[in-house]
Amino acid sequence: MNRQEIIKLISALTNAGKSATVIPDLCKTAISDSGQMAIIATSTVVACYPRAVQSIFDGLALKPKQIFDIRNHSSEQILVDMGITDPDFSPEQPFPEFPPEETPEAWHPVIDKERCTECGKCHDFCLFGVYAVKDGTVKVAQPQNCKNNCPACARICPSRAIIFPKYEKSPINGGLHDEEKFDEIDAKTLYNTALKHKLAERRAKVSLLKKD
Ligand code: SF4
Ligand code: SF4
Repeated sequence: MNRQEIIKLISALTNAGKSATVIPDLCKTAISDSGQMAIIATSTVVACYPRAVQSIFDGLALKPKQIFDIRNHSSEQILVDMGITDPDFSPEQPFPEFPPEETPEAWHPVIDKERCTECGKCHDFCLFGVYAVKDGTVKVAQPQNCKNNCPACARICPSRAIIFPKYEKSPINGGLHDEEKFDEIDAKTLYNTALKHKLAERRAKVSLLKKD
């Protein structure tokens, strides 16, 4: 996130008589506060990875008014597209302070439905019940079950339709450029790694039960 560009945007929008709200963690809001997501969807959204953001809203059957890409466009460009042609950036508004995180940041996939072919491979691959299939449509049904920092299913999706908005590299994070190549995908190894993780989790639960 380009903090300086966001501060400029907030300043210009405030000076133009518009209100601006900074959402610290849209992935977390998406799984914890559908009411707030519905309110956000009535606004213009400015974000780093519009494809990821669009897919987050799609997963909730919401359609934001418009999404602007702050990673690939300057705040000046975005303001012009919003109809603010002579922005006033002064005085600079402070970046909001957020309370410290009490829980780990939300980590979960979203599906770009423009790319998804509903093949079901992600559903068959995931051992944690994150995906569900209903009436031939695959959806992220239990995002909170996803394992932190594991983007494994994105690598097996033949359409590259699975996005992890918090993954560090493109295209898995929904970015426009292929910073990371993942042509050589060994699905079996990925599956075995996921299986090991699952078994380790099960063993941990068993030992906890024994202690109690
Ligand atoms: S593997 Fe990819 S294309 Fe297939 S259902 Fe999942 S997201 Fe869609
Ligand atoms: S990253 Fe792993 S746990 Fe998360 S949805 Fe994909 S396969 Fe399931």
